[in-house]
Amino acid sequence: MSAADFPGVTLVSHPLARVRLTTLRDRETSSAEFRRALGDLASLLLMEATRDLEIAPRPIETPLAPFAGSALARPLVVVPILRAGLGMAEAILTLLPEASVGHIGMARDEETFRPASYYCRQPERLSAADVLLVDPMLATGHSADGAIAKLKRLGATRIRFVCVVSCPEGLRHLTTAHPDVPVFTAAIDDRLNERAYIVPGLGDAGDRYFGTVPGSL
Ligand code: URA
Repeated sequence: MSAADFPGVTLVSHPLARVRLTTLRDRETSSAEFRRALGDLASLLLMEATRDLEIAPRPIETPLAPFAGSALARPLVVVPILRAGLGMAEAILTLLPEASVGHIGMARDEETFRPASYYCRQPERLSAADVLLVDPMLATGHSADGAIAKLKRLGATRIRFVCVVSCPEGLRHLTTAHPDVPVFTAAIDDRLNERAYIVPGLGDAGDRYFGTVPGSL
């Protein structure tokens, strides 16, 4: 399946994105390499996800002459879905230090695969902002759906969802539930397995990023 099968989905297949994604997928990749590659990939995705952000005029003076410069028209808010989204947010903030950061914690019940929100803290005036919701994996789509619904309830109207690996099930769910939210992804993988992991995927993004053990409390 390709991005053309899903309205509002952009597949970022830049050669550098493919190289870094291969590092993420490789089971031999260490946590240190994984963090580095996830950061690089988040930066590449950010460029595509912000390509059409509105800008406003910002007249300045260079040392030599007046210049008709540009500023972002609206404040930018980056919202990582905890916890794997943190790995993307950190890299995005390196490029966009002026962004504010909100956090949403969504935990997946490993039996029903349904997410429950356990934490939400957002900057003021989400309604005036461009919001970038980030999570490396779009699996069933329920976490992203729940997070977007929550951000909308808090007033956000301009939301973009950025992930590294997606799959047809998750894209179908998300684009149906929130057709107004553009999705940016570096891969559309084959399918979900019976445990709702993406195949071929890259495993548990949070465990690989933080070097933790699956399912430990
Ligand atoms: N979350 C992950 O980290 N990996 C998957 O494959 C699915 C959900």
